[in-house]
Amino acid sequence: MKIFISLLTFLLLTLPVMGQQTFIHAGHLFDGITGELAQNKTVVVEDGRIVSVLDGFESPASGAELIDLSEMTVLPGLIDLHVHLEGETNPNRYVETYTMNPEERALRSVMFARRTLDAGFTTVRDLGGSGVNTALRDAIRAGYVDGPRVISVGKSLATTGGHADPTNGHKREFMGVPGPESGVINGVEDAREAVRQRYKNGADHIKITATGGVLSVAKSGMNPQFMDDELQAVVETARDYEMHVAAHAHGKEGMLRAVRAGVRTIEHGTYMDEEVMQAMVEAGTYYVPTISAGKFVAEKAEVEGYFPALVEPKAREIGPLIQSTFAQAYRYGVNIAFGTDAGVFPHGENGQEFGYMVEAGMPPVEAIMSSVKTAPEVLGLEDEIGSIEAGKHADIIAVRGNPLEDITILEDVRFVMKGGMVYKQE
Ligand SMILES: [Zn+2]
Repeated sequence: MKIFISLLTFLLLTLPVMGQQTFIHAGHLFDGITGELAQNKTVVVEDGRIVSVLDGFESPASGAELIDLSEMTVLPGLIDLHVHLEGETNPNRYVETYTMNPEERALRSVMFARRTLDAGFTTVRDLGGSGVNTALRDAIRAGYVDGPRVISVGKSLATTGGHADPTNGHKREFMGVPGPESGVINGVEDAREAVRQRYKNGADHIKITATGGVLSVAKSGMNPQFMDDELQAVVETARDYEMHVAAHAHGKEGMLRAVRAGVRTIEHGTYMDEEVMQAMVEAGTYYVPTISAGKFVAEKAEVEGYFPALVEPKAREIGPLIQSTFAQAYRYGVNIAFGTDAGVFPHGENGQEFGYMVEAGMPPVEAIMSSVKTAPEVLGLEDEIGSIEAGKHADIIAVRGNPLEDITILEDVRFVMKGGMVYKQE
């Protein structure tokens, strides 16, 4: 009787479904739930979602496609919480403001999106550009171009002369007085207006530059750049629109203010100390380290003329510190979510961050979980992405070898599926 009922249920469940099924034979499966590696599993995908994970290698139902990854390790698609798909650091970066039209920037971003997806990153949070990033998100979603799922903040918010003031370093003729629409705020009213403008422009979340930064043409890389009331206005207004706030921060004071105001993530976090870490643990703030970006800018600071004169010393000083900050934050118990700042370094090299995290003392399994488990929590997408189980989007990658033994294997992703579509198969 039992068998009959389950057979009937099976027929009722499967008969009305017209979708094409794909059976994936996974030799080793890291499902993103247990943190362990299972052997010989079959992942069944239909209409872009995972419908079941079965023991052993099940033969495909009639009409279903088989993808043989029986020699590979299969994992959930990787998630990077800090990228900038609109650009990539190069010695001409500062001139591009005057030489590149938005359409040129948009078309180039298509290439960066593709590289990111090919590297196994099926979801990214784009933490700031001109707004092209939001259009790119929609173009990918509509299937016009290939790329990861993009969560976009549009244009970041800064205060006048702050890290994301788009006219820093320009001659006065070109400076003008950028306001909330361009993401420059001063005071509570501006803060509210800028957040609402981003909502209107289609941003998913809000990014603020709570302290100075490395790559802006401005003197300080670490001073606080928002007042408490401005931070509170940003966070409270964002909350009304179901948006969270990501805070770029290097210096301690700006970081503390941002954490107290209730931002969801601290990006970079270079000069955080135990007081900041404690505040983050208490407030439930996540730390997104971006070690890769720090290492890259420190390396380029040694190349004569690569950066403007105001930027070079900041890159040399701040860049190399992030990895040890990460090590301390990890030991302290700060909740760490994976993010690289790709775009500061070449897109597609996002996977290197895992190696840097492990080098700094985090076990490989935790480094992977920071991307597939913690990052979706930050985004509020834990029911949609980040694990290989029934109901989730079929965002699935494969590598050769065991990343729990050699984390650098994640720099060489051989198979990429997003939403049930195969984008890469070697
Ligand atoms: Zn960034």
